[in-house]
Amino acid sequence: MNEFSLIKQFFQPFPLHHSSTVFGIGDDAACVEIPSGKQLVVSTDTLVSGVHFLPEWKPYDIAYRSVAVAVSDIAAMGAEASSLTLALTLPDLCPQWLTLFTQGLKDALHVYQIDLIGGDTTRGPLSITLTVMGMVAAGQAVRRNGAQAEDVIFISGQLGGAALAIDDLKKNQLQEPDRVAVMEHLLRPKARLDLAHLLGKYASSAIDISDGLSADLNHICTASKVGATLIQQSIPIHPLVHQYLADKAIDLALCGGDDYELCFTVPAKQLSLFQDELNKAHLLCYPIGIIDETMGLRMKTEKDEYKILTPKGYSHFS
Ligand code: ADP
Ligand code: MG
Repeated sequence: MNEFSLIKQFFQPFPLHHSSTVFGIGDDAACVEIPSGKQLVVSTDTLVSGVHFLPEWKPYDIAYRSVAVAVSDIAAMGAEASSLTLALTLPDLCPQWLTLFTQGLKDALHVYQIDLIGGDTTRGPLSITLTVMGMVAAGQAVRRNGAQAEDVIFISGQLGGAALAIDDLKKNQLQEPDRVAVMEHLLRPKARLDLAHLLGKYASSAIDISDGLSADLNHICTASKVGATLIQQSIPIHPLVHQYLADKAIDLALCGGDDYELCFTVPAKQLSLFQDELNKAHLLCYPIGIIDETMGLRMKTEKDEYKILTPKGYSHFS
């Protein structure tokens, strides 16, 4: 098999879900329709074997997780995901591996209703680059630079589950059902596209938590030239993190990444409308603090003391 027959066998038969795809794989480039009044939102993620996933993980999981991670950036912009391209570098051509990989890819694309519209296939150390496209009402993309003093900081779900799974890959101390539960967070993060529409309507800024709450919230604060105060008791932490790593729980929530929940800010005067719509949509988000004028991150602890937070999270070159 060469790369052309590989593409034909593994990537040509992908079903198309999205109305914006005019045509996908098979030409020199794909063609995408942008409805009038909409803008294109584009994001690229590279996942390197041994860095973002382990080569011994199931190929199905590697593919599924890669899609979720990539789509999460589109959700954080308040946009609807529509299509993606896949640049795949493979050490060798293993049909069994590719069959399972494309199954994971297909299932994730089905969950998010997006189309694989192109890509590139090369030989080298295993790595996966996904470029995801999405649409947003013109001018409505939610950026990192819109947070203002008095805005309420929200998080879209519990933190620390994925970090506990990574910790357990080294220590191997979780009981089986608990390991399965936290590995689910790591391998099947949920890109929060379900919130994208409400973010577009109400959020003044947003980011997805890939590196850790403190590091990612700090990106919002820096871009918006503001600071933030978090309330320790309000930060939702996965119950298994409390159970297994009680004394490190808050650190895992602040500095462990990979949960792909969204952190966003809502102006105080929009709060009740936002909460009403969340309730109607049966969605739960947690208010965890307030944006303030003073730069930097702080946390009000359970003892009502204020602690300075140093933004810490994953960084490739430090
Ligand atoms: P070219 O040489 O013109 O770049 P290729 O032979 O690399 O074209 O690719 C042929 C078609 O297959 C293109 O439509 C391309 O987007 C698609 N393609 C190649 N590799 C992948 C992949 N890993 N996933 C999805 N589509 C792919
Ligand atoms: Mg070409």
